[in-house]
Amino acid sequence: MKARAAVEGALARIEALEAEIGALLDVDEEGARTLADKLDREPAPRGPLHGVPFALKANLCWRGHLTGAASRILDGYRPPYSATAIERLIAAGAIPLAITNMDEFAFGSSGENSSFGATRNPWDLSRTAGGSSSGSAAAVAAGFVPFALGSDTGGSARQPAALCGVSGFKPSYGRISRRGLIAFAPSLDTVGVLGDSIERIEQVLACVSGHDERDATSLALPPLALEAPREHLRGLRIGVPKEWDAELCDQGARDRIRAALEAMHALGAELVSVSLPLTLHANATYQVVSACEAASQLARYDGVRYGSRESCDGTLQGMIAQTRGSSFGPESRRRILLGTALTSDEGSPSYEHAARVRRRIVDELRAIFERVDLLASATAPEVAFRLGERSGDSARMHHSDLLAVPASLAGLPAASVPCGTCTTDGVELPVGLQLCGAPRADARVLSTARCFQAATRHHLARAPLTGALP
Ligand code: GLN
Repeated sequence: MKARAAVEGALARIEALEAEIGALLDVDEEGARTLADKLDREPAPRGPLHGVPFALKANLCWRGHLTGAASRILDGYRPPYSATAIERLIAAGAIPLAITNMDEFAFGSSGENSSFGATRNPWDLSRTAGGSSSGSAAAVAAGFVPFALGSDTGGSARQPAALCGVSGFKPSYGRISRRGLIAFAPSLDTVGVLGDSIERIEQVLACVSGHDERDATSLALPPLALEAPREHLRGLRIGVPKEWDAELCDQGARDRIRAALEAMHALGAELVSVSLPLTLHANATYQVVSACEAASQLARYDGVRYGSRESCDGTLQGMIAQTRGSSFGPESRRRILLGTALTSDEGSPSYEHAARVRRRIVDELRAIFERVDLLASATAPEVAFRLGERSGDSARMHHSDLLAVPASLAGLPAASVPCGTCTTDGVELPVGLQLCGAPRADARVLSTARCFQAATRHHLARAPLTGALP
């Protein structure tokens, strides 16, 4: 009965709050109930995720379900297979329950680029939930599900986790199979995990990580071996990049991060001031590289093979132009145009330049891990901003990604863990601490985040509107 009870609890909470939040695009009530009943009849639990309902971002293929990356161009698309991460969770007894809202094709930092309306932040419904995994973060923050899958190409799991007061994790590139993740920028894309605690994320990682021969970029490594829980951080050197500090962050976020650094120091970590000057160019570099890859990936949506089709003059070219022109949202069109221009003959020197700068940023980051074990900073330079405040202003929108993109460019593991709230315009809003690790040091990032979480317990703070939930 436990799995069924967990599903019914999740459905009751969704029923109570989803209309206000807009975190979900679809809920598979019957599928979840059937699976839960089957799991409850099994003689023994399969593991820690047995009977635990979860939500998944709409850019993860889930067989037979509407997982079309919140885009009109994939209207009605039901993939014929499930992403490897979903297959592995189901095999471990977890229950896929709902599909979460997101920025179309994961382009955005606020969830406002969804074709199906923005998600609202459970801490303050007038504010964004961050993005692009807006619905996954809000679904966890609203208590619908204990964890949700997202994706993280340039911060999309970590930044919304921070803005919604939940934990978020971007694994090392290749640690979780990308098979079944609808591509945005394949050299940066990762499956991300958002959860109500770091322990939960560790359980999910242990299940979904590990080599997948159907993804050529999957690391040839076994499932992640977790580190034992730490009681202290003695012996750890935590780098605090000076370029990622004060001037970049709003006052409220800055104060919480300073307190978090002190807490880690009190747990025994040695704090080391480091300098990463090239990472100041990470955001510009990311925007060029990701737009070029996105333009090339999205060329496949031509009205022939997937999703919607519109016709005007009866020619193939006319059909493709009409379908793409009317079915992609404004942000997708902007990125396709930018990426196409930057990979044209005239634009390609900029792309090549960005690729070279990326290499130097990667080298700078790798070198720093000879001196420190982890890097600590804010996840985002601010708390959740108001809906509409930045739409149409891509420079301001991308400001939110500033501290998240360096780890993405270098394929490094990074977690966002709640580190308290600050009062902004009279409301309490959460702040996230980012811990970024050396190449493949996923387990170290998670054990450090878990120790911080156990000592500070900020992850237990709940969005006020969840107070009366069933
Ligand atoms: N916010 C970033 C962007 O708009 C990152 C998105 C992501 O990680 N998918 O590109």
